[in-house]
Amino acid sequence: MPGPEQHKAAITQGTLVRKARSLLAYKPADVSPQRRVQRHYTMRLWSVRHARFLEWLYARFADMFLTLHPVWKAVGYGRAERPVKFVEKRVKGLMFDCRMCGQCILSSTGMSCPMNCPKQLRNGPCGGVRANGSCEVEPDMPCVWVKAWEGAQRMRDQNAICNIQKPVDQSLRETSAWLRVTAATAAEREKASEAQ
Ligand code: SF4
Repeated sequence: MPGPEQHKAAITQGTLVRKARSLLAYKPADVSPQRRVQRHYTMRLWSVRHARFLEWLYARFADMFLTLHPVWKAVGYGRAERPVKFVEKRVKGLMFDCRMCGQCILSSTGMSCPMNCPKQLRNGPCGGVRANGSCEVEPDMPCVWVKAWEGAQRMRDQNAICNIQKPVDQSLRETSAWLRVTAATAAEREKASEAQ
C-alpha cells in the first residue's frame, strides 16, 4: 500500500490543472477544445486552397506598396513600421496565422506559414508526419508542410518550395516583412537604374 507521501508525489501539475478546470463555472457552449482549434485552422486551410489567387493578389499588393516607396521614404520607413506592422499582423494573422517572423516565405510555401510548425521547420517536414497527414506534436493539426506542398502545386512556380531557406533571423521578429521587401526591391531598382 502506498503511503500518504507517495500519494502526494503522484499529483502532477497536469492533475492540478484538470482539477481546476472542472471547477470553472464557464463552459463554452457545444464547443470542444478540439473543435475550437479546428475552427482556427479553417482560414489557414482556405488560404492554402486559394494559394494561386492569393499569389496573384499579393503581387498586385506588392506593386502598390512599391509605388508608395516615395511616401514611405518621405515619412521614414522607421516611422511607417508601427502602423504597417499593426495592419500586417492582423491581416496575415487572420489569413495565415502569421507569427510575424519578419521574413515571409509564404510565396515559397504554398501560402502555408511554416512558423506554425511546432518545431518551426523552414525546410520541409520532420520525420514525424502521421499517416493521415497530421502533425506528430499536435495531432489535431494538419502538418503545415503537407499543406505547403498542396498549396505549392497550385502556384505559378511549383518548384519554389524546393528553395533552401535560411535560418530565421530572430532579430527580425515582430517587424514588417511588407516594408522590408518593399525597401529591398526599391533599393535594387534604384541600383539598376544608376548602373544604366
Ligand atoms: S512566414 Fe513569417 S511573416 Fe510569413 S506568414 Fe509566416 S510568420 Fe508571418
